[in-house]
Amino acid sequence: MEADSKPKKSGARLCCVCNQNRAALKRPKTLEQICRECFYAVFEEEIHQVILENQLFKPGERIAIGASGGKDSTVLAYVLSELNRRHNYGLDLFLLSVDEGITGYRDDSLETVKRNELQYGLPLKIVSYEDLYGWTMDEIVKMIGLKNNCTFCGVFRRQALDRGAALLKVDKVATGHNADDIAETVLLNILRGDIASFNSDFIIIRFSLWLMLGCQNLNKFSTYAYFKKLDYFSTECIYSPNAYRGFAREFIKDLERIRPRAILDIIKSGEDFRISTTTKMPEQGTCERCGYISSQKWCKACVLLEGLNRGLPKLGIGRNQGLNSDGKKDRKRDSRTPSIESK
Ligand code: SF4
Repeated sequence: MEADSKPKKSGARLCCVCNQNRAALKRPKTLEQICRECFYAVFEEEIHQVILENQLFKPGERIAIGASGGKDSTVLAYVLSELNRRHNYGLDLFLLSVDEGITGYRDDSLETVKRNELQYGLPLKIVSYEDLYGWTMDEIVKMIGLKNNCTFCGVFRRQALDRGAALLKVDKVATGHNADDIAETVLLNILRGDIASFNSDFIIIRFSLWLMLGCQNLNKFSTYAYFKKLDYFSTECIYSPNAYRGFAREFIKDLERIRPRAILDIIKSGEDFRISTTTKMPEQGTCERCGYISSQKWCKACVLLEGLNRGLPKLGIGRNQGLNSDGKKDRKRDSRTPSIESK
C-alpha cells in the first residue's frame, strides 16, 4: 500500500482510526476523518468480510474477473488479487474481456486491460463479437443505427462472457458493480417489467458476486481508484445513448439527496423480490442452433443474429419476440411472463 508520506502539519486533523497520519477524507458512513492508509484497509476489509459471510468462493476455484478496463472492473481485479494473496483464498484468477469491436473505445480500453494483466500478474482471455458472431458493433451500428444497439450489445456480451468462461473452464465469473449501478439495475428491471431478468440477475447467480463490491458506493470506488492510482480507462462508449439508464441514475441521485439511504434501500428491495412459487416459469433448455442455454427454440443471440444476417435487424427486438419453428417471426406475447411477490 502507498504510504501517506506527507508530514503532519500542526493543527492538521489526525486520522480517527490510527491517530497518527493526517486525515485525507471523510468516511461516508460516519463522516469521521480518516487517512489514506486506513481508508484502504477499511475498504478492503469490508469486501473481505462480505466474501467470508456469503461464502462467495471455495479454495481451488477458478474465477474469471470480467475486465472492461473501466474503474469498477479494475478495482475488482486489484482488490480480489490482493485479498486472494493476503488471505490465502486459494483462487486461480483470470481476466476475461469482451471485444465488442467498437473502434475508438474498446480497442483503447483493451490496451488498459493488457497493462492490468502485467500489473496484477493475471492471465487475460479476450473473446470478440467478430469471432463469435461474425459481426462487430461498428458493423451492427452501421446497419441498425443508434436506436437498439445496446440491446444487441447486451445480449451478445452476456453470452460472450459465458462462452469465455467456458473456454477458461472457470467456476464463476465476478463482475464489478458498485452500489449505484446495482440500484439502477433494480429500478430499470422494474420499469421495464423485466422481472425474469431481475430474478436471475439478483437471486440465482449474480447477486452473491455483486454483493462483494456492491457494499461500496460509487464515491468510495472513485476515491479508492484515484488514491491508489489504478490504471483504468474512463471514456464513455461512443455508441452510448442509453438515455433510459441515465434517467434512472438521475432519479436515484435525486432520491439520495432527500434520503441518503435510498441506494441501499433499493438494493434491499431487489434482494427481497422473488418470483412467486405458483408462477409457471419458462423451462430452460438449449438453443437448437448454438447449444446455449435458452427457454425458446433459439436463444436470443441467435434470433438477433438471424435478423442481422437476413438484413432484418428488427427481428427479435422487443420482449417475447422470437422465431417459430419455421424460422418466422413469432409476435405472440408470452403468457408465462412471471409475476412478482415480496418476501
Ligand atoms: Fe455496448 Fe451500448 Fe455499452 Fe456501447 S453503451 S458498450 S453499445 S451496451
